[in-house]
Amino acid sequence: MEQNKDINEFDIPLAKRTYLKNTNGILLKRLLIYSPLFLLIFSIATLRLIRNLESGPLLNLNSQVERNYDDRILGHLPYNEISKEKLVFIEPNISVHVDMKDSLLKMRQEAIKDGVNMVFLSGYRSINLQKDIFYSLKSVRNQEAAERARVSAPPGYSEHSTGFAIDIGDATQRETDFEKEFENTDVFRWLKKNAAKFHFKLSFNKNNKYIDYEPWHWRYEGSIEALKVFETSNRGS
Ligand SMILES: [Zn+2]
Repeated sequence: MEQNKDINEFDIPLAKRTYLKNTNGILLKRLLIYSPLFLLIFSIATLRLIRNLESGPLLNLNSQVERNYDDRILGHLPYNEISKEKLVFIEPNISVHVDMKDSLLKMRQEAIKDGVNMVFLSGYRSINLQKDIFYSLKSVRNQEAAERARVSAPPGYSEHSTGFAIDIGDATQRETDFEKEFENTDVFRWLKKNAAKFHFKLSFNKNNKYIDYEPWHWRYEGSIEALKVFETSNRGS
């Protein structure tokens, strides 16, 4: 009781003076005194936010996305042309990378033992030949580049330029050469079952968003050079 009384005696006169006479004046004065400070804090916060947006994770994310898509054209990855001294002929008009020759021929021999006859349709193709294929067929078929790219790589973007790609057909069903129907042949069924033993892999499966399914197109991944060539492709798939 004694204590409350003391507080009341001390507080009330001060409170009366403040609130009755100067309420509006003090509020205005405080606002005037503090407003530059508020403005400063607001400005610093805004500047920081802008700087974070410019150099922060958002920008990094953007450049990452751009980098991932930069090197692809119409869904195809770039490939360098193999140096000529690494090319060897497996047929009068078909050459491949020397690394894959033995494995490829052995695969054909093993298939023959199972009564399955594969034919090699296309191996190494120069970037110049790919240029002819891509642009001439495109105009013959009256297709736009993106449509054409679904079935043929733009020059500089074909696995065939590396010498590590081979297009395979069935000797008993030549009408399925380069056709989706090749997947119904004995050769394709045999390849699905056995190709990995010889380090061959189907390059364009049914899940590819940009490039049509090519059951006839296989690539070799049985050497360090081949693995390096296809590293980006394998990372992305
Ligand atoms: Zn091919």
